[in-house]
Amino acid sequence: MIYDFHTHTFFSDGVSSPIELIRFAYAYGYGCIGISDHASYSNMDQLIESIRRDCELAEKYWDIKAVPGVELTNVPAGSIDQMEKDAKKPGAMLVVVHGETIVEEVEEGTNMAAVSSKHVDLLAHPGLLTPEEAKLAVENDIYIEITSRTGHNLCNGRVVKIGRDAGVKFLINSDSHCHNDLYRGDFKREVAFGSGLDEKEYEEIIKVNQQGFLKKIGYS
Ligand SMILES: [Zn+2]
Ligand SMILES: [Zn+2]
Repeated sequence: MIYDFHTHTFFSDGVSSPIELIRFAYAYGYGCIGISDHASYSNMDQLIESIRRDCELAEKYWDIKAVPGVELTNVPAGSIDQMEKDAKKPGAMLVVVHGETIVEEVEEGTNMAAVSSKHVDLLAHPGLLTPEEAKLAVENDIYIEITSRTGHNLCNGRVVKIGRDAGVKFLINSDSHCHNDLYRGDFKREVAFGSGLDEKEYEEIIKVNQQGFLKKIGYS
């Protein structure tokens, strides 16, 4: 069963509705999909309400976990801690922070703000992750993403190396913007090995971290 906690729909810059994306995911063998559209204060309330409705619809009729969330994207680093709290109020179960990928202009300090917050669940594509950021992520129980998204994935090798030394809990996510980006077959495993994770580390993500993450975000 494939678990993937980071995807986008047409409520931000993806191409499908939440239910369409969930339908493809289910057909491709997903057991769990997190919908985490780009959010800030301008759109988070409507976004969460809309995503939540399709997640509930999917779970009513299909055997898949569909988790409504947001990805706080290119927001001021200083606003992240409070914004995380504010995203949980209208019902986001999953709050992702769009980390300091080297292919965008994410504000410096975003990674540090994310791993210092008690309310963040997942730091996505952190780019040039530092040992200090990795250490704080461990202390605050914040998961760090290995991504298959083109461009963001340029730093996977470093994220694995620095994260491993600190004892970080990794998740592997697709950051899908279209159903063609979703995992199929062995692709997720290949991304893991291509990023430098070994068999044992991959198994731990699949058998321990994914379930631990669901428990952390209060999914039942
Ligand atoms: Zn992102
Ligand atoms: Zn994303």
